[in-house]
Amino acid sequence: MNDETPDPAFDESLIGRYVEAVSARRTRSGVILPPAGRSTRPRLAQDTGQVVPLDPDWTIGDHPSLLRGRSGEVLSTARRYGGRPTYRYGDLPAQHLATRTTLRTEHRRRPRPGQLIIAWYRLYRDWAPLYAIADAAPLPALPEKRAAAWSASRTCSRCGEQRARPLPLSPDPDPERYCTPCRQTTAQERWIEASRAAQADMAAWARDVLADPRTVLAASEDNHIDWISPGYRVETVDGQVLLDTHVRTTTDDRAATYRPDVRNQLEGSVYVGDLLETIRQISARRIVTWYGGELDRLPQGLWKLVGDDFPRTHTAPEDRLSERYRLWTGESPNVRYEWWYPAPKLPWTWTGTGEHERGYKTAQTAKARVHWMREYLTRMAEHDPPEPTARSGSVQTR
Ligand SMILES: [Zn+2]
Repeated sequence: MNDETPDPAFDESLIGRYVEAVSARRTRSGVILPPAGRSTRPRLAQDTGQVVPLDPDWTIGDHPSLLRGRSGEVLSTARRYGGRPTYRYGDLPAQHLATRTTLRTEHRRRPRPGQLIIAWYRLYRDWAPLYAIADAAPLPALPEKRAAAWSASRTCSRCGEQRARPLPLSPDPDPERYCTPCRQTTAQERWIEASRAAQADMAAWARDVLADPRTVLAASEDNHIDWISPGYRVETVDGQVLLDTHVRTTTDDRAATYRPDVRNQLEGSVYVGDLLETIRQISARRIVTWYGGELDRLPQGLWKLVGDDFPRTHTAPEDRLSERYRLWTGESPNVRYEWWYPAPKLPWTWTGTGEHERGYKTAQTAKARVHWMREYLTRMAEHDPPEPTARSGSVQTR
């Protein structure tokens, strides 16, 4: 068998290199492996899968796919480790070379006893030994159940595509494994489905709000930064005005004693204590506001007048119109989403583009805001909702 003559020109530094071997007739590309058995001639593991002895007459050159440095040097051979080439992300010939872990998880093989490390994989400042896949020993076959689990973890549960590595499990409530495109499609479908259900609920909510005789629509003017005597407007559904005035508190009065600009702003306003009865009446109603906290400052200081019995004016969480309306327009499906690709996994609530809310958002006066609130409620109660638009790149996490 061994009638080859030992090759005196055999160059140890060839081992592990990814090369193009050019002969008179053809070009072969592959990784150079050390001699096997009693032979002294290195071998070429070709991209085609065959392993052939390396012919000394072939001209060996670096493979064109290898990464190069600034001055054109091939990085894998320019920076050797232990005398062997070093590959990094982007130029590892993964069909020929694998780490111990990759051998096991992707090829179900392990290095044979005494199998040479023929190159290194560079991970940050660390090095992982690379073995020739062609020379590694196959692992014993898995028992039936584990073999099924092995392939199930590598199969997309939607399109059935097989991957070499286990696919990540998608988060609850859908613990399945998807390939990348299927994950996105599934997330979009889930978004649409959640959104449709929410739209139906929101239409029912709007009809309930409009039919409830206790409902009042309330808005305030955020006219300046320090929120001095803002204008309030509170109307019943059928347009009866319960409150339409600028309201000042004792804090405003105090500020006015040393700030002339505040004094100007307080002109024409009503002291909150004089509105106690009105605020009491509003407090007994079902208060619908845009964000929920519009009337929060209205009872400020009233506890000084009436003790713990002072009227409370906040909106119930389920009666905040901005959230309800956003759900109805299909801009938000009311579930928490996270970006699944690329890497950052920050919990994030989608707030929509706000296109549908332009009327309210551009309204300057409390009167105009109440007008838009009524407009939106009517739209929600009487019209078909818009088509929900799924945001790509997001997946439900709850
Ligand atoms: Zn798939």
